Amino acid sequence: MGSATRPPAGRRLTCTLGPMITGNCLCGSVAWQLDGTIDLINFCHCTMCRKIHGAPFGAFAHAHANEFRWLRGESSITRFESSPNVFRCFCPNCGSSVPVIEDDEVCVPAGSINGDPGVRPSIHIFVGSKAPWYEIADALPQHDGFPPPEEW
Ligand SMILES: [Zn+2]
Ligand SMILES: [Zn+2]
Repeated sequence: MGSATRPPAGRRLTCTLGPMITGNCLCGSVAWQLDGTIDLINFCHCTMCRKIHGAPFGAFAHAHANEFRWLRGESSITRFESSPNVFRCFCPNCGSSVPVIEDDEVCVPAGSINGDPGVRPSIHIFVGSKAPWYEIADALPQHDGFPPPEEW
């Protein structure tokens, strides 16, 4: 499907009570809140994530869409279809990547999170497309493309 941001449905961690997680774009026009927990944070090295983030890789936090809500700016969000039915969303004022809702999941650019969400990145994906000038320096599992479903 070409999306490097969305893990297959399946593995879900049980939500526990915790502080709510908030985030916003650089200019503050778009803001959101998550009332549940984050399932997983991945680093994606695919070309599209590198371009959209302007960085050596994209960092995405995955959570339940029904625990996510926009605080402001939802109607201003601009969408770009990076591959069929895969949308990259950003603030039209400052250009920041903002969360994307895909069915029952929300995919949050991890850099937009305020404070510490209490979850740490757990996996590198699409390492086969990695920027040649960047060396991965941690011990997290690496996959050339999507990982097998049990690792999400
Ligand atoms: Zn990607
Ligand atoms: Zn903005």
